[in-house]
Amino acid sequence: MTRLLIEGCTIGGRPDCSIYCEEGIVARVTEGTTQTVPPDAEVIEARGGAVFFGFVDSHCHPFEYGWLKRSVDLRGTANITALRLRLMAGVQRAHPGEWVTGMGWDQESFPGGAMPDRADIDDITPANPVVLSRICGHIALLNSRAIGVLGLEANAGVEYERDQAGALSGIVKEKALDNVFASLPRQGQRSAADLQSAEAEASRLGLTCLHCILSPEGYREELAALAALDSAGSLSLRYRVYIPPNAIDFVESEGLRGKPAGGKVRINGVKIYADGSLGARTAALRDPYSDEPTNCGILRYKDEELRQLVERVDSRGYQAIIHAIGDRAVEQAAEALGRVTGTQNPRRHRVEHASLLPRDLRTKMLNHGIRATVQPMFITSDTWAVDRLGEERVRDLYPIHSMLSEGIVASGGSDSPVESMSPILGMWASMTRGGSTPQESLTFEQALTLYTSNAESNGLEEPSGSVKEGVPANFTVLDSDTSGMHPALFRKVGVMATVVGGVVVHSYGAG
Ligand SMILES: [Zn+2]
Repeated sequence: MTRLLIEGCTIGGRPDCSIYCEEGIVARVTEGTTQTVPPDAEVIEARGGAVFFGFVDSHCHPFEYGWLKRSVDLRGTANITALRLRLMAGVQRAHPGEWVTGMGWDQESFPGGAMPDRADIDDITPANPVVLSRICGHIALLNSRAIGVLGLEANAGVEYERDQAGALSGIVKEKALDNVFASLPRQGQRSAADLQSAEAEASRLGLTCLHCILSPEGYREELAALAALDSAGSLSLRYRVYIPPNAIDFVESEGLRGKPAGGKVRINGVKIYADGSLGARTAALRDPYSDEPTNCGILRYKDEELRQLVERVDSRGYQAIIHAIGDRAVEQAAEALGRVTGTQNPRRHRVEHASLLPRDLRTKMLNHGIRATVQPMFITSDTWAVDRLGEERVRDLYPIHSMLSEGIVASGGSDSPVESMSPILGMWASMTRGGSTPQESLTFEQALTLYTSNAESNGLEEPSGSVKEGVPANFTVLDSDTSGMHPALFRKVGVMATVVGGVVVHSYGAG
């Protein structure tokens, strides 16, 4: 029997409470006095801290997080020289001919903001094919060796950027990039280790459940890793899994749905990409980019194709979640979803990101009960948003307060490894917005909703409500009493413990 006592904490603004849990369920909540509990109960001494229902990341890519940890990490590189130095170190560790992968560069951080091209890296990578994803994951830089190995030279279309002379620049986008990753040699056994490194980080950051998006090229290994770890009882957190459309037949034929091996993993739905990212100028806009007047971004599907795909996903009983960042893509996604949702949206279909969301699109989503996940850290990271969209449109970028107050069920996610998985940082960003469009700032209660009740609901669960007898013991214990705290201070709040099903999966205060 697992027994746990969390002592001396604030719950819902009431100080000095204690929660006693047995077998993963809250057995007793008391105020003021210390509870008498069996001597074998684990005790978290949380005096001065605050307990919340377990935080949920409703949009992340844990396998990519793990992959990033063992690839060349290019995040934070401020110019091409810095990128080259990190890449050189990575190439030195690789055998000749072996693929070198990296992730995290952002041309917006480079002087001048120009896209890198293959000439920037060819001289230091003569013996290895190289693919370096931009921070958004929607475009990548390939070296000449990679272009040669994959035979891309003859490929045409907007997804393969060309230089003035008509040769491939090395920048590959969107679906064409999916194909590049699909051609890389698989490193199957590594998936389990990748997931475990993401899980350790997520538990440390106070997350109890991840809405875990699988990749179009690696989903078989990823599903196998989830199943193996779950049946071995090795998973700490809960996983709500979203597969790519090309995995539906595999999942059905293998009978993977509705058969949770160890009870921590459930396949919820299908993730569809409608467009790209603002940073890469591949997000699909109704009107051209303010800093590239000939470009409106890239829609991955024709309207009719997306409708058919959504109908297929819905008719098979999956929750559809559609990545849509530009207003044109959100419009297309809402249109396609609206045909299957009715007004109530019983399958809780969602739009992921829904970044550029003017009022007419919010109304459209609301009329069909379409839900959303939002990534508040994007607000503080997209410092170039005004350049891309202009002063006028940027007012409708990440309008999270409007979404919530108008009634859209929006939940928070990190899009890790794009941003840190920390729900604390996510809540902080949703409350402060780095000073941009302050009218869209959330209150603490709203920010909390993003990562708790709305996230549970968007993950096909019933929100836990209040901390009382009989509810599941999934808790995030913070080290400070956050009631009345100034939003700017919230980013410094620490996670004292993370509890999943009555089991302490991370703590620095357990005794
Ligand atoms: Zn994502």
